[in-house]
Amino acid sequence: MREVIARHGLSASKALGQNFLFDEQLLDRIAAIPGDLSGRAVLEIGPGPGGLTRALLRAGACVTAIEMDRRCLPALAELEEAFPGKLRVIEGDALAMDHDALMGEPYAVVANLPYNVGTALFVRWLSGETWPPRWTSLTLMFQLEVAQRIVAQPGTDPFGRLAVLAQWRTAAKLAMKVHRSAFTPPPKVMSAVVHVEPTAMPAGVSARMLERASEAAFGQRRKMLRQSLKGLPGALDALDRLGIDSARRAETLSVAEFVAIAEQLSP
Ligand code: SAM
Repeated sequence: MREVIARHGLSASKALGQNFLFDEQLLDRIAAIPGDLSGRAVLEIGPGPGGLTRALLRAGACVTAIEMDRRCLPALAELEEAFPGKLRVIEGDALAMDHDALMGEPYAVVANLPYNVGTALFVRWLSGETWPPRWTSLTLMFQLEVAQRIVAQPGTDPFGRLAVLAQWRTAAKLAMKVHRSAFTPPPKVMSAVVHVEPTAMPAGVSARMLERASEAAFGQRRKMLRQSLKGLPGALDALDRLGIDSARRAETLSVAEFVAIAEQLSP
C-alpha cells in the first residue's frame, strides 16, 4: 500500500479526514469481522487508496466503493483491474447518495471514515422507519470514545442517545480496538471497530418517537425525567402508566424502558 500511495503521489488530506491503514494483517482482521464475505455484496464508503478494499476483495466480496477524493481513483482503478468484475468505484459524496438504490440487493457495509461523516451515516443507517433495513451489517471504524458510546450500558457515563439509537433494534458490539499508530498519519486518539447487526424491531414503536424521547431525556441528562420530559406531550403520563419513577435521570433508564415510553407515545 505504501508503494501505491507513493506511485500515485497521494498525501493524506486533513480536510478530508484521511488517516490510511496499510497493515495487511490488520486489514484482513477487519474484513473478517462481518463473517464470510465470499460472493457477498459489500458497500465500502471512503476507500481512499484501497487498503481495506483490497482486504475485502481478498475475502471474496463484491465491493461497491464510494470515494469523494478524485486523487484516489487511479489507485482504485488498478484494484478494479486486479479483481475483474468484483469492484465498482463510484466517485462522489456518500452523504448525498441513496445507498439502497445503488446496491439493489442486500449488502454489508464496511468503512473506515472520518469521524463526522461516519457518525452522520451511522445515525442515518439506524434511523429508518422501515425495518429490517437493506443492509445486513455495519462494520465501522470510529474514535474509541464514540465506539464506547454506541455499546454503552445504562448507568455509565457514555450511555446516551447514540446507545439507545444503536441498541433498541440492533446487536452492537465493539469488535476490535485499533491503536492510533496503525494509521498514517496517526490521529490524536485511539480508534475501534464497531459491528452492528439488525435484530427484530419491537412492535408498535415509531423510530421517530423513540428518538424524540431520548433526545428530550438526554438533552438535560443531569435533570430528573419529570423535568427533562416535561416538553414532550404525554411523556409524564407514560412514565406514570409504566411505573417509572419520574425522579430518575435519563442515564439510569434501560433501552427497554426507553422503548416502552416510545411505545406509549407512538400513534
Ligand atoms: N478506507 C481507507 C483506509 O482505511 O485506509 C481510507 C480511510 S480515510 C480515514 C477516509 C476516506 O473517506 C478518505 O479517503 C476520504 O476521502 C473519504 N471520504 C470522506 N468523506 C467522504 C464522503 N462524504 N463520501 C465518500 N468518501 C468520503
